[in-house]
Amino acid sequence: MIILFAIFLLTDIFLIRKFGNVLHVNMIQIAMGTNPLTVKSFLSNYVLTVPVIFGVIFFIAALALLVKGLRKFFNTRSEERLKRFSIDLLIMFLPIILIWGGMIVWFVADILFKQTTLGRNISRCAQAFDSISNEPKILAEMDTQAKAEKILSDNSSVPYVIFILGESTTRNHMSLYGYKLPTTPLLDLRFERGEVFKFTDTISCANYTLAAMEKIFTFSEKDDAVEWYRHANIFNILQRANYHTVWLSNQSPLGLWGNLDRIYGGICDEEFFIEPKEKFSFSRKLDEILLPALDEYISRAHEKNFLFIHLYGTHSTYSERYPKKFSKFTGDDEDKPTKEGKKITAEYDNAVLYNDFIVNEIIRRFEDKNAVIIYISDHGEEVFDDDREFAGHSMEESGNRNMIEIPAIIWASEKFREHYPEKVSAFAAALDRPYRTDYLIHTLLDLLDIRTTSFEPRKSILNAQFDYALPRIYNQQPYIKDE
Ligand SMILES: [Zn+2]
Repeated sequence: MIILFAIFLLTDIFLIRKFGNVLHVNMIQIAMGTNPLTVKSFLSNYVLTVPVIFGVIFFIAALALLVKGLRKFFNTRSEERLKRFSIDLLIMFLPIILIWGGMIVWFVADILFKQTTLGRNISRCAQAFDSISNEPKILAEMDTQAKAEKILSDNSSVPYVIFILGESTTRNHMSLYGYKLPTTPLLDLRFERGEVFKFTDTISCANYTLAAMEKIFTFSEKDDAVEWYRHANIFNILQRANYHTVWLSNQSPLGLWGNLDRIYGGICDEEFFIEPKEKFSFSRKLDEILLPALDEYISRAHEKNFLFIHLYGTHSTYSERYPKKFSKFTGDDEDKPTKEGKKITAEYDNAVLYNDFIVNEIIRRFEDKNAVIIYISDHGEEVFDDDREFAGHSMEESGNRNMIEIPAIIWASEKFREHYPEKVSAFAAALDRPYRTDYLIHTLLDLLDIRTTSFEPRKSILNAQFDYALPRIYNQQPYIKDE
């Protein structure tokens, strides 16, 4: 037990010193998606340092001395006398031993379950299982909230509304947002043609998928006191506005930490998952696998359609996110101090290039329709861009701006631009407004001319009443875009 807790204590001390945080469920979740090279880099940069190595040697030596001393003590037998003396001593001190023993047990148990990583992780795992067993309750509460949310007016008429949720894509690696390499040539072209509206100051409300998805599609906001599911969600509202809602996902419908793809997908009129619902899979298929399913749906579309498309985007392991023919960039293109940093950054940039192809393929399918497409990433990604020699997305406490600076674009078809010139002007007026994705439900409702009881015009980026002072606290600081 001592060894076990010493290890967890050392882990905590190390993490607090290096990252200002203790071991965290998100960290484990993120670590599960981390590739071996990142682990190697992490080990050589943080773990195998001189103070850590000496600390471990010193700790093992101290432990060996303690064990040796204890064994020596128990091997010394002064026979009967010692035995009797011990019993007398035990009886004399029994009440004290009981009280002290009780206090020690209580103290240790308290540390165990409140202070240590092990205890916290046990309680977090319990929470995770709890959330899974709570799913029926969550669904019932979502239903109650949906019913409580009143539609005040509905003038929605856009026949095709497509929402693409990307994965782990930072805008800082997209040429559309000024990145030095041509990673988004197809979107760049559409931007030049005036089809793409590029929002330049939108950040994600979280650093990881689950927390982002809780808030993007409900009226729940970051740092809300009540649970996300105690708010109305966009899918229920759209259904009542006669939208046929479809969930197309290349992400897993399974997960220990709850799964919003499963929950939201279940609310939609139709759900289509690439990954099986019965078996957790650690490998992912390329996002192009979604396209035939999308084509199939388009061939039998309804009068008004809301299609949600969940990509696997540019999630690590980056080299597995694109087919060979998208290996355009190599380490030589990258300006990073280490060979490994160059290689991984090039792989990420190739994944961004393929993501550009996928988003463009989706857009292509709606060019002849009256359609509008919203594309954002759930959160960003750090790719060896600061001095940490790290690629991935961490918890907010040790996060950085690359993990929240996301692409946010609206693509409008020619027919859409003809039909809704006032909306197009609203897009153009909103491009540089400071925004965060947990307010997005207000923008969606505004875009579709639906008003409900929880809708607030000041939280819609497209609204004339937009509030420039909407909170954007990140890691306890107000986020301000770096110019
Ligand atoms: Zn994500």
